Amino acid sequence: MHEHVFVLSAEHVQNYGSQWWDEEARVADAIAKLRSLHAKGITTIVDPTVWGLGRYIPRIQRIAEQTPVNIIVAAGLYVYEELPQQYAYRGPGLLLDMPEPMVADFAGDITTGIGDTGVRAAFLKCCIEAPGLTPGVERIARAVAKAHVETGAPICVHTSAHTQSGRLAADLFEQEGADLTRVVIGHAGDSNDLDYLAGLADRGLTLGMDRFGLDIFNPGSERVKTIAALAARGYADRMVLSHDASCFIDYFGAAHDAARAAAAPNWHFEHISDDVIPALLAAGVARAQVAQMMIANPARYFGGAA
Ligand SMILES: [Zn+2]
Repeated sequence: MHEHVFVLSAEHVQNYGSQWWDEEARVADAIAKLRSLHAKGITTIVDPTVWGLGRYIPRIQRIAEQTPVNIIVAAGLYVYEELPQQYAYRGPGLLLDMPEPMVADFAGDITTGIGDTGVRAAFLKCCIEAPGLTPGVERIARAVAKAHVETGAPICVHTSAHTQSGRLAADLFEQEGADLTRVVIGHAGDSNDLDYLAGLADRGLTLGMDRFGLDIFNPGSERVKTIAALAARGYADRMVLSHDASCFIDYFGAAHDAARAAAAPNWHFEHISDDVIPALLAAGVARAQVAQMMIANPARYFGGAA
């Protein structure tokens, strides 16, 4: 429910990537990684790579054509504080006074398609990080909520478990008339505060237990304990599991492979299949609850039969 094929800045690659970016090699590597994931029984990944993380659909299409894995793509913006300048002067009451252009852009990605690819986004993504509702973040989040109301597409919001910004997200989306049962609180799984997590779930939100392998934010054993405790309290219908991993992320430059292997050896697509599900079962989570989190909850989120 939250994996990236590539996290990649086009400007970074174009200006500084000659030492570490090999398009053909990385595409082949992504195809191999997704085929290997499919062999574990994972048939679909949900990829919230939007503007700010390097969304580039033609490359995703190339990869999707060569793997049996379905890749669901998103509309939205990945920003922690400041609005991109490209939206700073256009909008209600601004220099170019017009209806919110982000709503038109995001909803268009969902209803007519992204660029001229013919690929339509199936969900919306924004961030409410530790800085909270800065003017830019608030404008983006409200535009995402309006695009959700307009199109019916569900939302995934990146949140900070440390500042418990999931509550801010829930309040804002509620004000905008969003259906909270169609919202995933991304990175909720970085928290082990059961009151915070159950409080969100009680409002109908789905908890993104989505950074398995990123022990620096919350050790895997703690993540498992928290999910088992919530499942025991009846919340298996309000959680989804993921790694927030990627085939390649350009945050580490030329040191990519070494940095990732050293800092987060389990941060890859197969950790849940290989290690986390057995650990959840050993912690008392029922097989049916695992299926609920891996299959039924995602299907419900996208409006399919559970
Ligand atoms: Zn992510």
